[in-house]
Amino acid sequence: MRLAIVGAGPAGIYAADLIIKAERDFDVSIDLFDLLPAPYGLVRYGVAPDHPRIKGIIRALYEVLDRGDIRFFGNVRYGTDITLDELKEHYNAVIFSTGAIKDAELNIQGVELDGSYGAADFVNWYDAHPDFPRTWPLHAKEVAVLGNGNVALDVARILAKQPQDLLSTDIPDNVYQGLLASPVTDVHVFGRRGPAQVKFTPLELREACHIEGVDTIVYDEDFQYDAGSQEAIDTNNQTRVMVNTLEGIRGAELTGASKRLHLHFFSSPKEILGEDGRVTGLRIERTKLDGNAGVTNTGETREYSVQAVYRAIGYFGSELFGIPFDHKHGVITNDKGRVLDSEGKPIPGIYATGWIKRGPVGLIGHTKSDAMETIACVIEDRDSWWQPAHSHEHDIVELLNSKNVQFLGWPQWLKIDATEKALGAAQERERIKLVDREDFLEAAFKNYQA
Ligand code: NAP
Repeated sequence: MRLAIVGAGPAGIYAADLIIKAERDFDVSIDLFDLLPAPYGLVRYGVAPDHPRIKGIIRALYEVLDRGDIRFFGNVRYGTDITLDELKEHYNAVIFSTGAIKDAELNIQGVELDGSYGAADFVNWYDAHPDFPRTWPLHAKEVAVLGNGNVALDVARILAKQPQDLLSTDIPDNVYQGLLASPVTDVHVFGRRGPAQVKFTPLELREACHIEGVDTIVYDEDFQYDAGSQEAIDTNNQTRVMVNTLEGIRGAELTGASKRLHLHFFSSPKEILGEDGRVTGLRIERTKLDGNAGVTNTGETREYSVQAVYRAIGYFGSELFGIPFDHKHGVITNDKGRVLDSEGKPIPGIYATGWIKRGPVGLIGHTKSDAMETIACVIEDRDSWWQPAHSHEHDIVELLNSKNVQFLGWPQWLKIDATEKALGAAQERERIKLVDREDFLEAAFKNYQA
């Protein structure tokens, strides 16, 4: 079998590894494509730089790709550099594992104001994504972060943290300098439900509540629990731990630190306020519990003076050319990973896995079980795979060359990897990320000069 996988993040790499290790009665050769000149997807470009434990997953992914039985093609854009028809001519099947990189939309007034940002864009900036601007406007003293998921915590933490504490990470200099110049003093995180309904995870919440040089503040009025909340506290260990963490901060003495992290609950965003096109505040509507851990609006509104608003209310997948897309949920239309046509019938040869299959929820480890399900379908569907005319491993290389696609393979990635490590070593850091595509190509094919 010749298998193409589009998207070299954890979902794609797990899928490749799993099919190689799966019980099957055919040989498999896999080509893994990514539009970025680097592998690892969200682990490299989504996980916050100060989360080395999660970044450590890169080590495991590296070992899979370094074995040599999966070919990596970086800097190849699906839809132009390689089309669906070309995939059909060269492979028996394709798995899309392109993840979700955009912000979910928030339809409130003022969302378009200068100073209203999608969290995903900010993450892409601090994680040095090559296709995002290198500067970020950090002018606000008071900032609102909307949402009670781990991305909201990442954004709040990176904004509030002393930039010096990020110097041990792989952030490039432009990110460090940007954060160093930030005048931020107060970061307000707003959740529309209560302490027992947060989507954080315990470790991440505890970390955010104990940032060096930052006082964390919670408000007594926000500690409300209904029967549904109590049930969650009694039956869900994670909820119990997180409620305990938040209760522990309640009434804790402030140290007088120069920065504050405020955690507000029962606050649903209503309007981003502005003057002369710029954000000047946030209006929220207070909510209250409905008995079943849901909330209803109370009609009471409040305004907070903030000069920037970061919307961290979830990611959203992007449509891929020629592939059926569920616009409501931001995923490829599929059943257990089999991509479905408009009548709900599986389309032969086309599969999905990871966040583009099931939506942007769950931790990185969850993509493994997801990949297992998709791989099982691929193997089971053997009789309906495509029958490619150009199935030799060289054929795809020739095609990309004929289209002047400047792709890079695993050996080139290893050169980039070594360059980033060398840049880091010069400053006694483990690595400093390259940002620009030109720098990647320079490091991959020529002699990169810092
Ligand atoms: P998430 O966990 O789904 O959280 C989204 C948050 O936005 C929820 O609190 C949700 O509230 C809120 N929200 C949604 N629509 C809203 C609206 N219209 N108004 C106000 N609030 C709204 O999403 P995420 O934070 O983007 O994280 C995605 C996944 O990546 C998660 O599984 C997360 O754990 C994982 N992740 C992990 C880490 C880590 O360090 N371990 C870091 C980043 C991300 P409701 O609950 O009320 O809907």
